[in-house]
Amino acid sequence: MAQNPIPADQSSWSVYSKLGHETNRYLWGLLQRLAAEAKPAKAGDQVQPTPAAKLGQYFGACMAEDAVESRGITPLRPNWQAIDAWKYKEQIAPLVAELQLIGGFDGPFFSFGASQDFADAERVIAGADAGGLGLPDRDYYLNTDESSKSMLQAYKQHIVKSLQIAGLQPKRAAQAATDVVVIETALAKASLTQVERRDFHNLDHKFDLNGLQGLTPEFSWPKYFKALNLAAPAVINVSEPEFYKAFSQQIRVRSLAEIKSYLYWHLVRAQSPYLNQVLVDEHFSFYGKKLQGAQELAPRWQRCVELVNGQLGEALGQEFVRRNFAPELKEQTLRITSQIEKAMREDIQSLSWMSAETKKQALAKLATVANKVGYPDRWRDYSNYSVDPVDFFGNVKRGNIFEVQRRFAKIGRPIDRGEWAMTPQTVNAYYDPQLNDINFPAAVLQPPLFDAKMDAAPNYGNTGGTIGHELTHGFDDSGRQFDERGNLRDWWTDADSKEFSQRTQCLVDQYGKYVLIDDIKINSRLTLGEDVADLGGMILAYAAWQAELGENKPEARDGFTGEQRFFIGFAQWACENVRPEARRVRALTDQHSPGKYRINGVAVNLPEFAKAFSCKANQAMAKEQPCRVW
Ligand SMILES: [Zn+2]
Repeated sequence: MAQNPIPADQSSWSVYSKLGHETNRYLWGLLQRLAAEAKPAKAGDQVQPTPAAKLGQYFGACMAEDAVESRGITPLRPNWQAIDAWKYKEQIAPLVAELQLIGGFDGPFFSFGASQDFADAERVIAGADAGGLGLPDRDYYLNTDESSKSMLQAYKQHIVKSLQIAGLQPKRAAQAATDVVVIETALAKASLTQVERRDFHNLDHKFDLNGLQGLTPEFSWPKYFKALNLAAPAVINVSEPEFYKAFSQQIRVRSLAEIKSYLYWHLVRAQSPYLNQVLVDEHFSFYGKKLQGAQELAPRWQRCVELVNGQLGEALGQEFVRRNFAPELKEQTLRITSQIEKAMREDIQSLSWMSAETKKQALAKLATVANKVGYPDRWRDYSNYSVDPVDFFGNVKRGNIFEVQRRFAKIGRPIDRGEWAMTPQTVNAYYDPQLNDINFPAAVLQPPLFDAKMDAAPNYGNTGGTIGHELTHGFDDSGRQFDERGNLRDWWTDADSKEFSQRTQCLVDQYGKYVLIDDIKINSRLTLGEDVADLGGMILAYAAWQAELGENKPEARDGFTGEQRFFIGFAQWACENVRPEARRVRALTDQHSPGKYRINGVAVNLPEFAKAFSCKANQAMAKEQPCRVW
């Protein structure tokens, strides 16, 4: 930790973020080459809009800081004027639709898109979710401790400054900040907590159009869909109906001027990072510095690489994979994955607390998990996204619109089980309960996380643990609500459910005692799924490693036994430094426990760990009664 201080432009630094940073550095070089190649040979020549040329032109336009600066805030004008000109509440829907569209799901009031049907995983329906808050969680508006109150004050000041830069008079800007907080607090009150949202039954409410309209008498959905050029959907999943009632209520009780304050703010907030330096800096001063503790704005190239990742992610991913992903790596990963799955099969069969009936269902689910490694079989098609070599703001806007429309196009269609929610160049992994798949992007299969030149001990401890983690998510407190096809369907007997909850309670109690910062402890109902996955993942990785070794003794090296090296490999993925500000944000929003407890909290529950390091009974790293779920 001492040798890896947090860079000034980061709010935390870890093995994952360092590897992510190195990957971005590599992509930077690649994009610079593509940008040079995408320049027309002589003025007036047309460049073919191939994916590679789009990448180059997008990146080139993003890096052209002078051009961005010289346009100032003029790109905001058309939308700003539309808010100015708005006169009748019953005409709010097209305005909201437009701001949501250009913000790419980061818009005012709520979030509307496509959603896999909870009851029928094979189809996609429309989905209406809560949203509309400028702070990361509802608790920022509702908590009454000093630190929350001062953050809300700082947020208000940030709104005042931003809106003044955008053109409001000081008094009007100050009033706007007050209006925004009043409206957002009302929305926050009606929003579910993060813990409530982990139970998918709380988010499962299907409505037809009349039903949806009934929730929001003040908001015309036909006008909204017309503005989006979207056929009115027959079914909509409204994840938080109470939120929609509160949203409609706000339109009724707030004046036009108050609602305009809110809309100005959400326009400026969403677009500031793509405008001139004074707005970029103001945005950073709150969201980067005050909220997360970063000291400096990240260099422009980093922000531009991240934007390419966001808006042309699979086009860049294709270039990345072609140069960096060996087919052997995919085979090796699939081999470890099948060993982990075998370990889980044996684990389920051997559970003393689970009935044969539930075991049968669990095994069926396990057998159906799709293992996705590296990159998608079919790449995303960006041909409907037009990139202009000299219009950075326009590119971001069209990219957002492209993505919103790409998702709208899924409504009413069968689910695409081949789709990925992460790009191949992302250093991360995930499980999707509705697709019942585990996903390991190419970039997570790199040293020091996975090192093809190392022996099995550290690789099974590290990447094996990650694979086991994602697989266990299918069977954590939230993932277990879904069946093998991804339907939200209870396949547990009541008695087995009860047994399961007793075992997870052990982890709730254990992690709830760990301190995050000051007197804030882990909200262990929020982190439960991740804690279950961390523990289960390690148990599976250890079993898979033992199977891999067979009769062979593990290699001792660097003064450590093979067993010790397995656990050191495990611990090394989670090395991290986190700024105090970021710890506070994570306390409210992060479903993962901090790195230290993702390691030590697991190790204390593994007798194999105590044995490897000769811990005596009741020593700090050897729990008398270990927790065990899977
Ligand atoms: Zn996880």
